[in-house]
Amino acid sequence: MNVNVTSPFSQLDTLESVGIKTFVEKLKEIQAFPLKSGDHINIMQINIGKVCNLSCKHCHVEAGPQRTEIMSQEIMAQCLQVMNDHQIKTLDITGGAPELNPNHQWLIRQATEINRHVITRCNLTVLNDKNYAHLPEFYAEHKVEVVASLPYYTQKNTDRMRGDGVFQSSIEVLKQLNKLGYGREGSDLKLNLVYNPGGAFLPPAQQGIEADFRRNLLDQYGITFNSLYAIGNFPVGRFLTFLQKSGNLQPYMEKLVAAFNPETVSGVMCRDQISVSWDGYLFDCDFNQMLNLSCKPKHISDCKAEDLNGREIAVHNHCYACTAGSGSSCGGAVV
Ligand code: SF4
Ligand code: SF4
Repeated sequence: MNVNVTSPFSQLDTLESVGIKTFVEKLKEIQAFPLKSGDHINIMQINIGKVCNLSCKHCHVEAGPQRTEIMSQEIMAQCLQVMNDHQIKTLDITGGAPELNPNHQWLIRQATEINRHVITRCNLTVLNDKNYAHLPEFYAEHKVEVVASLPYYTQKNTDRMRGDGVFQSSIEVLKQLNKLGYGREGSDLKLNLVYNPGGAFLPPAQQGIEADFRRNLLDQYGITFNSLYAIGNFPVGRFLTFLQKSGNLQPYMEKLVAAFNPETVSGVMCRDQISVSWDGYLFDCDFNQMLNLSCKPKHISDCKAEDLNGREIAVHNHCYACTAGSGSSCGGAVV
């Protein structure tokens, strides 16, 4: 596949000159190239803006308070129309901090009206801002699933990645969510946490780290949750810059390649989803979006089921992060 070679690709392409096999070659080796999406797409993940109240060191979106990209209500409406037309069951809302888009609640209301399951990805701290403090009740009322990022269960590690005070602020919001029934046994309000490694290493086994989070958050703060997703860091955005500046890019890629697990390939998330950027462009996943690696069809305004299903996925070397070990996706381990 011809890709639009931009600077992030050049950085990942240089790995071939040091003998690291490309992801395409790896897929060919196991007769899995070209990688194609399934017969029906179940998830539309939409990135409704790059604005965020935080500027995390590992952020693949390079989000932050200085960003201005925000999805319009018109593009949101087009996304909902496609979901309706093609029976896409789940709307997965991401960002930046999705809450900072003024149409975030409108989108959730519209999606629940057409009976779609809604997931909102949340950095927790934003809900401590008085302008967004009403959102936990709003989420509960609309049965929105909250997927909350919490890099670690200790203050030191979390604040190192996200900034001073983030851990304590996150704990306060988790307690509020629990109070509303989120993540409590017997409740249908789902609260899932996201862990990601604090450096250039692979996530540990999801089951083990989930047990550690569960025990520590319960013992220290009385917090409960449904599941923990262990997501690897992708060599994209700020994390890619960190890898390069620290001289870790090649060793990290070597780790990902050495941990390639062919059993994860059939379950990579792009096979079951389509990703939409703030301005309506379509991608196979949020990582491809940040690398500007577009797919067919190109824009939500020109999107037909026959193009989405069974489409050829635009893979590149960053895809090794999806297939290392137990695999990594927005829903955690793949196998
Ligand atoms: S990782 Fe999440 S919370 Fe942190 S800057 Fe990026 S979008 Fe914001
Ligand atoms: S990075 Fe994206 S395109 Fe590549 S395998 Fe993972 S989900 Fe698919």
